[in-house]
Amino acid sequence: MFAIFSRTYRKLQAYWRGDQGALLCSECFQDHGLRMMARDFHGKRIRCSRCGATSTHGLTREQLRDLCQTFFVRGSIMAADYGASPLIQFNDMRENELDVEGAINVDIALLHRVVGLGFFHYGPRLWMVGAVEPLRKLRTRRGRQPTINRILRTYPVREITPREIFYRVRKAPAEPSDAAQYDAPPGEFSGSGRLDSPGNSILYGSQDIEICVHECRFSAGDDLYVATLAPTRTLRLVDLTEILEEEGTEFDSLDLAVLMLFLAGSHAYEITRELAASARAKGFDGLIYPSYFSMLRTGGMPFETMFGISLRRMHQTRGYEKAKVIGNLALFGHPVADGMLRVVGINRLVISRVSYGTTFGPVMTPDQS
Ligand SMILES: [Zn+2]
Repeated sequence: MFAIFSRTYRKLQAYWRGDQGALLCSECFQDHGLRMMARDFHGKRIRCSRCGATSTHGLTREQLRDLCQTFFVRGSIMAADYGASPLIQFNDMRENELDVEGAINVDIALLHRVVGLGFFHYGPRLWMVGAVEPLRKLRTRRGRQPTINRILRTYPVREITPREIFYRVRKAPAEPSDAAQYDAPPGEFSGSGRLDSPGNSILYGSQDIEICVHECRFSAGDDLYVATLAPTRTLRLVDLTEILEEEGTEFDSLDLAVLMLFLAGSHAYEITRELAASARAKGFDGLIYPSYFSMLRTGGMPFETMFGISLRRMHQTRGYEKAKVIGNLALFGHPVADGMLRVVGINRLVISRVSYGTTFGPVMTPDQS
């Protein structure tokens, strides 16, 4: 009887103090980055029963899990040649197996003791780091063309009508007011980008101006101009940003192979250039493809999983995954000179504010990763 009374009394006391549910506060943490991120959670003013600090940053169990997801999982993502994977994972069923250097070790022990979270080195599912069969085929001489044909057969065609507009940004063009300056570069300059090759010039554009700026690595202080472009007829583009509904596992997924191809660095260009040339040969006007900077712009995490299954493959999470990817446009040839596009307007483009979202993560020494 007394035990029940004293438990109720403690709960009431916690309620009066305003810290119901808060297990730890930001000041409980030793690691500077983790403490700073915990301060992003705001609540009532409490006196922390753990460290004694007076704080408005008490964190509930749920909030502590969110904090750990951002700091440890997202903060330990490493890109492979294709794909990417976190080096750390945690759950409340595992013992704590993570032994890292420094103050964070004390915090890991505290999170284990109080919240019951066990942290461990994550051995990724191999598909997450590029072991996807269509991707393997694309990387071989014999497998490439049949797989490219399969991609062009499988992905939907999207029509862009003359009512739609998009943008192309250029740095210091010779004649800023001349529409021809915003066409694809002359043939002799083709062959250095993701999709263009000698003999296959490409005009790159986007419906998102910020993506144009990111893709071309422009920065504040650059003398930039933007052309607003519109098609003169309906264009037929292969839409590679679509999420495919597929049978089979992640290891057989054409959908993941294509996404990984476009989120990879310049080592993938050899493949993407052949893909573009084949699409052109088949009579398409161009491609819509996932922007390399999609994840930065949308704040999304690449290749997220739930119980080891890619969220791209679950019906319920498909919309969420689709929203992470921004499409860029690649139009074949010299669409302005060829009369496929008209220049609606030309303006100077000023980068007035640059803003990056940042979060912290743990330091992993090479032998831990
Ligand atoms: Zn505290």
